[in-house]
Amino acid sequence: METRKTQFEKLFPNEPAFRWKQIEDALFSSANGWDEATTIPKSMRESLKEIPWLSVGLANIQVSANGETHKALLNVEGGKQIESVLMANRRGAWTICVSSQVGCAMRCSFCATGKMGLTRNLSSDEIVDQYRFWKMYSENTLPPDHLTTSPRISNIVIMGMGEPLANYEEVRGALNTLLAKTDIGPTHITVSTVGILPRLEQILTDKQWPPVRLAVSLHSAIESTRKQIVPTSYDEFLPGLERWAKNYLKLHGNRRHHLTFEYVMLKGVNDSPTHAKALSTFVNRIGRIKVNLIPYNLTGVDFERSDDTTITAFHDSLQKNNVTATVRRAMGADITAACGQLSIDNPANFD
Ligand code: SF4
Repeated sequence: METRKTQFEKLFPNEPAFRWKQIEDALFSSANGWDEATTIPKSMRESLKEIPWLSVGLANIQVSANGETHKALLNVEGGKQIESVLMANRRGAWTICVSSQVGCAMRCSFCATGKMGLTRNLSSDEIVDQYRFWKMYSENTLPPDHLTTSPRISNIVIMGMGEPLANYEEVRGALNTLLAKTDIGPTHITVSTVGILPRLEQILTDKQWPPVRLAVSLHSAIESTRKQIVPTSYDEFLPGLERWAKNYLKLHGNRRHHLTFEYVMLKGVNDSPTHAKALSTFVNRIGRIKVNLIPYNLTGVDFERSDDTTITAFHDSLQKNNVTATVRRAMGADITAACGQLSIDNPANFD
C-alpha cells in the first residue's frame, strides 16, 4: 500500500522538500478537505484530490447511552473495516483508542478481536488518520451541551484492534507523526502490547522509538494461567518479561514513564488469592510497575467477569503488598466498545 507521501512524490516529483511539510501541516489543520487547505497553492490542491484527504471513511457511529463513548466503524483500503473509539476522560477532554491492525493474530481467549484472526496491518497513515477522523468529529459533530467542556483530544491509547508491536514500523511511524503534528506529548500516548519480547527488546535500543508509555498485557504471573489466557504466549515468558522490564526501568524509570501491567479479571481463572500473591511477588521483583485491573467485558466467549468483591479483595491484596494498582472503569460496554469487545463481522475482512 502506498503511503500518502509516496503518492505525493509521484504526483509532484520535482517539488522542494518544504512542500511535503506544508501538506502535512494542512492535514493536521482545521481544514476539512483539500479545498479548505488554503496554505497550499490552488493549482496544486486540484491535483492533490487524487490522494484521499482521509484514508479512513466513516461507515457507522454508535454512541453510548451516557454519551461518554463513541465507537466508529471505519472503512479502510481493500473493503476492510476497523473500529476506533472516542472516550470522555477525567481531564474534561477525550481519549481515543486506536486500532493498529485489521483483526489480530494473538488469539487472546477473552478477546473478540482475537477471534477474527489477522487480515492485514494498518499503514501509519491509517493509524494517524483515526486521530484526524476523531479530531474532525469532536470539533464539528459533538453537540455543544455535551458532558465534556472541550472537543480536545488529550490522550491516545494504541489499544484497539490488533497487536501494535506486530506492526512495529507502521506504529512507530504513526507515533512520530502524532508527536510532531499534534499537541499531545509522549506521556499522554500509551502503546498496549501482549508482550512480543523481541520487539520489546528492540524498543530499548531503537533511537527512532519515541518515549511513549508502554502497557504490557500480563493477565497472570503464573505461566500456565497466562498460557490459558494468551495461547500465543512464549514458553518462559515471565522470566523474559522480568529481565526486559528491569532493563526498561533502568532507562525510563521515572514516574512519568512508568510501566503498566494490564490484568483482565476473569472469574475462576486468574482472580484467586494465589494469583494475587504471584502477581505481587512478580511485580516487587521488578520495581516500579503500575497494575491496571480490568473487569472483564462480556464478548460472548467462555469467560465471566470476576465478582466485585473478588476484584476488591484482589486489589486490596496487591496494595497490602506495596503494589500500586487501579481498577479501570468500564467505558462503552453498551455499544461493545469496551476493552476486548472490538470485533467486526464483515466478510470482506476475511477475503
Ligand atoms: S487482546 Fe489485543 S493482542 Fe490479544 S487478541 Fe485482542 S487485540 Fe489481539
